[in-house]
Amino acid sequence: MHLLGNSEADQLRMLKQAISESRDGITLADAAHPDCALVFVNPAFERMTGYAFEEAIGRNCRYLQGSDRDQEGIAVLRAAMARGEPCVVVVRNYRKDGRLFYNELSVSPVHDASGTVTHFMGIQRDVTSRVTLEANLHQRNKELHTANERLRLLSIADSLTGLFNRGHFDEQLVTQWRIARRTRSTMSIFMIDIDHFKAYNDSYGHRAGDTCLREVARALGSAFMRVSDFVARYGGEEFVVLSAGMTVDQASRYADSLCERVCALKIPHAATPGGIVSVSVGHATARGDELLTAAALVSQADEALYRAKAEGRNRAVPSSPT
Ligand code: GH3
Ligand code: MG
Ligand code: MG
Repeated sequence: MHLLGNSEADQLRMLKQAISESRDGITLADAAHPDCALVFVNPAFERMTGYAFEEAIGRNCRYLQGSDRDQEGIAVLRAAMARGEPCVVVVRNYRKDGRLFYNELSVSPVHDASGTVTHFMGIQRDVTSRVTLEANLHQRNKELHTANERLRLLSIADSLTGLFNRGHFDEQLVTQWRIARRTRSTMSIFMIDIDHFKAYNDSYGHRAGDTCLREVARALGSAFMRVSDFVARYGGEEFVVLSAGMTVDQASRYADSLCERVCALKIPHAATPGGIVSVSVGHATARGDELLTAAALVSQADEALYRAKAEGRNRAVPSSPT
């Protein structure tokens, strides 16, 4: 190395001055020493760590980690030093007063004329503010992600019953119908409406009506048979179930079971013939390859529901063959 236009003594003085005025901590450790002890630290290192030159010299740098030894950066550093290779790591260090700081440590081997590693030079920078900022940012991102997920769930859930809402049903209907078309499988729609619910509200009050809605929703929600089954609150006291892969017979049995499940709740409803809350179900099943739209299938189920009501309620009626 050569500093232009200076005598060797001037060069040495200048280099010492530069190291002394460096904003980064600079250390030299003796590679030949059994514990790789420090033989030099500059004033920036003293300021950063709180340890004076005399306190640092003769010790291995690890005293800066205290008992916090289980660090990924230290393992990386140790492996690189063993191979005589340079490396940059960020490690947790502790000042003399015990305060934590993050040390971005760049270690380079120093060789003699024969190529032997004689020293390790460390350049150290306090990056605590950067690390803290990154950690805060990471935490904020996580919180944002959780909030977004909650918002997404809120936007597809019905707040009273916890079932999916109408908007999400409309989306699922399109998706499931597309799958049914592609796989040439069937899709069934079950429209469910509570019988004489206006009278229920009139007799027992709106709040009791809400409780009743929740119970019916839970009974319908627990009637899932397959993962593709999907139940949503369609409107006030109407629900809809969407299911894939059922035959017409299976759909009929399933529709009957929905009526039975609600009756099994035995919610008193004095204004009805049976004295308990019941539902009417209209259902329709079609193959994906039939020339039909998903909306038309919903209409068929709706018409069947209308007939279930007309035929006396508390029953399931299939759509009439077209
Ligand atoms: P039907 O057997 O023909 O279905 O008779 P119904 O009385 O159930 O039918 P209708 O559509 O006339 O009445 C539905 C009632 O559902 C009217 C409304 O007050 C009630 N309702 C709708 N949404 C809610 C709700 O969120 N909470 C409560 N408590 N009642 C609701
Ligand atoms: Mg209704
Ligand atoms: Mg009703």
